[in-house]
Amino acid sequence: MKYIGAHVSAAGGVENAPVRAHEIGATGFALFTKNQRQWKSKPLTEENITLFKERCSEYGYTMDAIIPHDSYLINLGHPEKPKLQKSRDAFLVEMQRCEELGIKLLNFHPGSHLNKITEKDCLARNAESINIALDQTEYVKAAIENTAGQGTNMGFRFEHLAEMIEQVDQKDRVGVCIDTAHAFAGGYDISTAEGFEDTIQQFSDIVGLKYLLAMHLNDSKKACGTQVDRHDSLGDGHIGWTPFELIMKDERFDGIPLILETPNPDRWPEEIAKLKELAV
Ligand SMILES: [Zn+2]
Ligand SMILES: [Zn+2]
Repeated sequence: MKYIGAHVSAAGGVENAPVRAHEIGATGFALFTKNQRQWKSKPLTEENITLFKERCSEYGYTMDAIIPHDSYLINLGHPEKPKLQKSRDAFLVEMQRCEELGIKLLNFHPGSHLNKITEKDCLARNAESINIALDQTEYVKAAIENTAGQGTNMGFRFEHLAEMIEQVDQKDRVGVCIDTAHAFAGGYDISTAEGFEDTIQQFSDIVGLKYLLAMHLNDSKKACGTQVDRHDSLGDGHIGWTPFELIMKDERFDGIPLILETPNPDRWPEEIAKLKELAV
């Protein structure tokens, strides 16, 4: 079973996300459980929570098919203590909101070292941040997203992901969300069948396929290795359809959310329909 969807809007309340996912033909979805550009937000109400759960079951979304994304403001590897603490507090709130909604995964980008600490130190801080959040929650898993390596962002090499996971205590509650556009811009040429296979083999050797918790399916407006993060609609960018066809036909990618973050929501129904067609 492939859970195919997009990062849908939760405007007006998280309970609207499953409705929007259903409208575009999705079998899974991503959302922000709070405003992604603000530190603070209102707690979820009983009504938000009840309606979210009711609508998920009404439209057939199991919790395996849903992966929220955390706020863009959070930097779990921040070099400065007060700002690191602020990020850790906000991340904990995001993890708690997932558990209030019954959601089992939360996806986030590893932080940036901002040229103030070493890469190694930044990765260690990220891992410590994950440990702190896992200690204070019950079951939600932390899904580290590979990045394009823009700016001083960590996580663009599979070695970075492995190094963080290595330092997390609860190994069964940590894993990875592979973003195809980020992998490509980060230097993994997945545009050909051989390149894609080789990349997955590297991931398997360095991180381990058991840690693959989700994927973001995006084409890239930027060339391989540019380390610039610009998503494109599937087939329109430098990646093309090849890896997406392969993912749809490969059972290693069954049972995890496969989420579009492509730039044109009007094309999501068509992109999802084509992916579904390839999956049979
Ligand atoms: Zn992504
Ligand atoms: Zn991106």
